[in-house]
Amino acid sequence: MTELRFNPLSARWVTVAGERASRPSDFLPRQLPVEAEPLRPCPFCPGNEEATPPALESYGPKGSWQVRVVPNLYPAFAGSGPLRPVEVGPLHRHAPATGIHEVLVLSPHHRMSWADLSDAQAGLVMAAIRDRLEDHASQSGVEYTQVIVNHGREAGASIEHPHGQLLGIPFVPGELEDELSNFAAHAPVQGGPGLLQTVLEEELRLGERIVVDDGRIVVISPYWSGSPYELLIIPRRAVSHLDRAAPGDLAATGRVLRDVLSRLRALLGDIAYNLVFHTAPHRREAEFCWHVHVLPKTATAAGFEQGTGVRINVVPPERATQQLREIAE
Ligand SMILES: [Zn+2]
Ligand SMILES: [Zn+2]
Repeated sequence: MTELRFNPLSARWVTVAGERASRPSDFLPRQLPVEAEPLRPCPFCPGNEEATPPALESYGPKGSWQVRVVPNLYPAFAGSGPLRPVEVGPLHRHAPATGIHEVLVLSPHHRMSWADLSDAQAGLVMAAIRDRLEDHASQSGVEYTQVIVNHGREAGASIEHPHGQLLGIPFVPGELEDELSNFAAHAPVQGGPGLLQTVLEEELRLGERIVVDDGRIVVISPYWSGSPYELLIIPRRAVSHLDRAAPGDLAATGRVLRDVLSRLRALLGDIAYNLVFHTAPHRREAEFCWHVHVLPKTATAAGFEQGTGVRINVVPPERATQQLREIAE
């Protein structure tokens, strides 16, 4: 039984998922290669489809899927209904962790990560993300969906076969609320550029932190990068919800992600990373622009970072940009 508990110190929800700890892979040393149970056939490889619950969605010609979405066997969020907090004593508050937890298999190939996808395959993955977000938005108890890709054990992956996850949750998480309120606070003039479009205009003018500009989608090393080689993917055309983005923008996002991930690999080796897709809460009209954070796991957050939230970044984003540009030439 997975439960949400409220942390009154940080005013954020925590998910306590006791059943997931029964997975033997959860406490293995992080530097081991990802291969949860080497003797068990990969549940995400073609031919092993019966190892997962039936697919919610699959893409590609019948009998040879290219992208597949399946329910997570160990869901952190499950069941329907809105957030129903229960007070226990003066400060303790909990709620059932209702919601959706899905796995997005990026390709039928066991060793093909996002950095290796073809244009067409990267486009299919983005189309699948859009379709699932649309579906989650139609479920009334689901307030927000976090789409992620964890690559490598240090980034939290426990199955080697490249996959992402979609977690539809019954509340809007603190990280998102912070971004939303900063967007709202920025909104300068009615109809003027929003926060990220203002950043984009300035970065395009300066030119020194642009890693890729394909005309639709721009990848920058943010001026405020808190960790080495972190990247931010921003559409030129601001749209609050990723599932409302133009198909061409989504296809371009898939391609530029492939390009920057393969450059990161060429520069740093096959390092672990997290992709974090941020989109406005379902059914909420908000001043926001969907975007993607690329967060390479180059270091772990130590005590100072954990205690203060203040990151110490040893690679200035201008240098990261230069290196990532050179590697493409
Ligand atoms: Zn596999
Ligand atoms: Zn964000």
